[in-house]
Amino acid sequence: MSVSPPATVTLGSRFARELPELCTPWEAQKLRDPRLLVLNERLAHELGVDPSVLRGPDGPLWLTGNLVPEGAAPVAQGYAGHQFGHYSPRLGDGRALLLGEITGVDGELRDVHLKGSGRTPYARGGDGLAAVGPMLREYILSEAMHALGAPTTRSLAVVGTGSAVHRETELPGAVLARVASSHLRVGTFQYARATGDDGLLRRLADHAIDRHYPEVAGAEHPYVGLLEAVITAQASLVARWMLVGFVHGVMNTDNMTISGETIDYGPCAFMDAYNPGAVYSSIDQGGRYAYANQPLAARWNLARLAEALLPLLHEDQEQAVAIATEALGGFDDEYDAAWSSGAKAKIGLRDHVDGHTASGLVKELLALLEAHEVDYTQLFRSLSRAASGAPEPARELFGDPAEFDGWLERWLPHRPDAALMNQVNPAYIPRNHLVEEALASATDGDLEPLHRLVDAVTRPYEERTGLERYAAGAPEDFGAYQTFCGT
Ligand code: AMP
Ligand code: MG
Repeated sequence: MSVSPPATVTLGSRFARELPELCTPWEAQKLRDPRLLVLNERLAHELGVDPSVLRGPDGPLWLTGNLVPEGAAPVAQGYAGHQFGHYSPRLGDGRALLLGEITGVDGELRDVHLKGSGRTPYARGGDGLAAVGPMLREYILSEAMHALGAPTTRSLAVVGTGSAVHRETELPGAVLARVASSHLRVGTFQYARATGDDGLLRRLADHAIDRHYPEVAGAEHPYVGLLEAVITAQASLVARWMLVGFVHGVMNTDNMTISGETIDYGPCAFMDAYNPGAVYSSIDQGGRYAYANQPLAARWNLARLAEALLPLLHEDQEQAVAIATEALGGFDDEYDAAWSSGAKAKIGLRDHVDGHTASGLVKELLALLEAHEVDYTQLFRSLSRAASGAPEPARELFGDPAEFDGWLERWLPHRPDAALMNQVNPAYIPRNHLVEEALASATDGDLEPLHRLVDAVTRPYEERTGLERYAAGAPEDFGAYQTFCGT
C-alpha cells in the first residue's frame, strides 16, 4: 500500500486501537483506474478536507482506500445481527472498511468508511463489491435524509472502480465513501456479548458512551444510561422516518446504529401514496419491515441490545432483566411524544392546541389518505396553501374530496400556521421514479439527472420554479416499486 497522504487529510485509528477484538486490519482492493463520479463538496468542507484535494489526481485513490494517510489503520469491523428475526453470529463488513476517524471543523469525531472496497474476512459468499447504481442510491437518499433533518450517515463521494460487477447482468462497479458519527451497531454489541468476555463488552460500551453519550459517563449507572439514551435516539429517529414517509426496508439489528443515525440504505424508499403496509424490499415477503411496523421493529431491536448489555446492567441477572425491561418500557412513550410533536407541526398547530386534539386530527387525515390513495408528501405540502385560504391544490389530490372537506372544516378553526408547515413538510423527496431515472442515466455515464435530483432533494423545503417535476407524484404507470438488497 502506498503511503503518501494528501497534505490536508489525516485519519485516526481509535476504534482499531481500542477494540482490536472487534475488527480485522485489512486493505482495500487495488484499483487500476478509479474515477470520481460524485463528490459532496459541502461535506468535505465540514470535515475540514479541501475538495480540490479530492478532485485532484490522488482524490479517487484516497476515496477508495488505495492511498492511506500515515498513521491510519483501516479495518473491517465485525458484528453479529438478527436478520429478519434470525440470528447470525458473524456478519461484519463483508465489503466495507473503516478507513479511520476524522475530526470535523466542528471538533466532532467521525468515521470515514468505504463500501464496495473488496472482499474481507467477513465476506462469506459475497464478492465484496458494489455496483454504481446502489452506491449512488445511498448517496442520494442519505443526503436527502440529512437535508430533511433526520440523523443519518452521510455520503462523501462515489468513485467508479472501472471494473465490472456481476449481478443479474454485468454492472459498473463503485465504492461509496461514507461518513458517520460511528459505525457502532446493535449487532456490534451482540458480537461482543457473544464472545463471553464482559471486559470487552464494557470497553465497547465505554467507547460508545464516550463517542455518543458522554453525558451518561458520570451517572450512577452509566450502562443503564447508555441503553436509555439509545432507546431515546432510536425512538426519535424512527418517528422522523414515519413523519417523512420513509421505509428503511431492512431494519435488522446489524443495520441499527447506537448513535441513532439512519444507516445502510439498501432496499429503502420514500412512499408515494400513503400506505401503512408499504414494503419495497423484494425479500421482505412477510412485510416485517413495512412502513407501519417500523416502531415495533425498532423496539424489538432495542430489546436485543438490552439483552447484549445485561452483564453490565447489574451483577444479578434477574435484576438486570428488570432494569432492561423498565428501560424498554419507555420506548413507546418516547416514540409517541416524538411522533405527536412532529405530526402537530405538519398540520401547522402550535401550543394553543393540545397534543391529543392535534394527533387525532392527523390520524383522521392519514385514514383519508390511505382510503383515497393520496400522495403523502404532496398532500402535506399543499396543506399550507389550504391554511392560507387556497384549498384547491390539496382537494385536487382526492378523487372525491367530500370527506377531506369535512376534515378541513374541523382543522381550519385551529388557525394553522402555513409558514411552520412549509418548514417541516418537504416539497422535494427522492421520489422512486426520479431516483430510478437518475441511476439509469448514471449507469450509462450521464450524471446530469443525478446532480439535478440531488440539488432538489438537498434543499427540500425551498420551493423553486423549474423544479415542478421533482414535486409531482409518481406517474400512473410507475406501478408497484421494488428495490433489492445486497446489490
Ligand atoms: P446488508 O443487508 O447490505 O446490510 O448486508 C448484510 C451483510 O452482508 C453485511 O455483513 C454485509 O457486509 C454483507 N454483504 C452484503 N453484500 C455483500 C457483498 N457483495 N460481498 C460481501 N459481503 C456482502
Ligand atoms: Mg448492513
